[in-house]
Amino acid sequence: MQYLIDQARVFRARAAAHTLHLGGLSRYHRPRAVFIACSDARVVPALLTAAQPGDLFELRTYGGVIPPYDAKTPSGEARTIEYAVNELGVSDIIVCGHSHCDVVSAEMHGNLTTAVAAGSDDATPLTEDFTAAGHWHVLTQVDVLSAYPCVVPRLADRSLRLHAWFHEIDTGATLTHHPRARTFLPL
Ligand SMILES: [Zn+2]
Repeated sequence: MQYLIDQARVFRARAAAHTLHLGGLSRYHRPRAVFIACSDARVVPALLTAAQPGDLFELRTYGGVIPPYDAKTPSGEARTIEYAVNELGVSDIIVCGHSHCDVVSAEMHGNLTTAVAAGSDDATPLTEDFTAAGHWHVLTQVDVLSAYPCVVPRLADRSLRLHAWFHEIDTGATLTHHPRARTFLPL
């Protein structure tokens, strides 16, 4: 913890060294994109994209999970997305999954347990392809996001783009989903 405290104390000096103009940030808030990702500490959006303060509007959740929209009781995630889309008018939303995700592993373990209990042969392939499961997990979140009331009209008039990314923690590579090819390829 002390490392974090020490770094926060010298942030202004580090910002100055990197010629960041912090003063201007108080006058406007126009992020380049929304970045939705797992809370996993090994995923660092600003580091991946070399983002500066003001560039990314971030939403970090357990597994990067986006809950289905519920108009009666909007979730914190929904309010965050609505603010970015309606108030900030963002044009791009990146949903970024990652390798070695504990949440995906837990989901797979749950599926495995269920499959084994049911005597299904499907249990073995599930455990063998964590990458495919991670990719599927990201696309599932994008599907949920696509149905948000604030997102639907913006997709229809093409003023908003959704991007499914997958970051490999061990290699540092980041892939993006190509719908036509139905696969993830390097950015
Ligand atoms: Zn994760």
